[in-house]
Amino acid sequence: MKRAIYPGSFDPVTFGHLDIIKRSSRLFDEIVVGVLNNSSKNALFSIDERVNMIKELTKDMPNVKVDSFEGLLVDYAKQIDATVVIRGLRAVTDFEYELQIAQVNHVELPELETIFLTTSLNYSYLSSTVVREFASYGGDISRFVPAEIVPLVEEKYKVK
Ligand code: ADP
Repeated sequence: MKRAIYPGSFDPVTFGHLDIIKRSSRLFDEIVVGVLNNSSKNALFSIDERVNMIKELTKDMPNVKVDSFEGLLVDYAKQIDATVVIRGLRAVTDFEYELQIAQVNHVELPELETIFLTTSLNYSYLSSTVVREFASYGGDISRFVPAEIVPLVEEKYKVK
């Protein structure tokens, strides 16, 4: 049984994330989408909101589970018995940071391998930050996130 973890902030989840989830679910027996509960980051959505959004969008993918975690990824990976970390690579700008993190994790836990999936061309510009910024100025985000997510993001900026 090969269990892989796909960690991230997912604030909010985008078509880019969903593409990585779908593609990696074909490569491993089980994918755990690990939503990072990072208290130092000022998140738009609460951890429960983020977990629930991804659960709803992946409900038809039987080998995809969604969970949240705090602290070190290596500790969480050990805890859930995951041997692979999935990360998405969009552009060269992602590379240096991702390489460092992967190497640190590998030193900490040598049996944990990080695997990078290159982004699909049509999502290479897409990040949660872009979505939040666009939405904060009243932009149309329906090209970036699933239809169910659009009103949830818009609602956040209405009350702010
Ligand atoms: P972001 O806020 O930049 O979207 P996350 O922490 O939520 O970042 O990202 C989690 C993982 O998903 C990272 O490995 C990131 O590189 C990857 N990812 C994010 N957006 C995309 C995309 N458009 N295509 C492929 N991978 C992506």
